[in-house]
Amino acid sequence: MCDCVNLESSYDGKKVEDIPELASIVDEVRTDFKTWETEYVCKDCGQKWLEKYVSKGHGEVPLTQKI
Ligand SMILES: [Zn+2]
Repeated sequence: MCDCVNLESSYDGKKVEDIPELASIVDEVRTDFKTWETEYVCKDCGQKWLEKYVSKGHGEVPLTQKI
């Protein structure tokens, strides 16, 4: 049983690997090497997650969110 429904809908500043409770339940689906967006899917419930990078101030910060 996964914890997707109890997880935040968006994690500002975090990659999937920074969120252990999420990293342990998702599989990587595809990576878009132009935009550096990586799509993940929960192995249990099928919830899709997107990890991407957002320009902010001096650089890019990661953002992981439900899609
Ligand atoms: Zn799930």
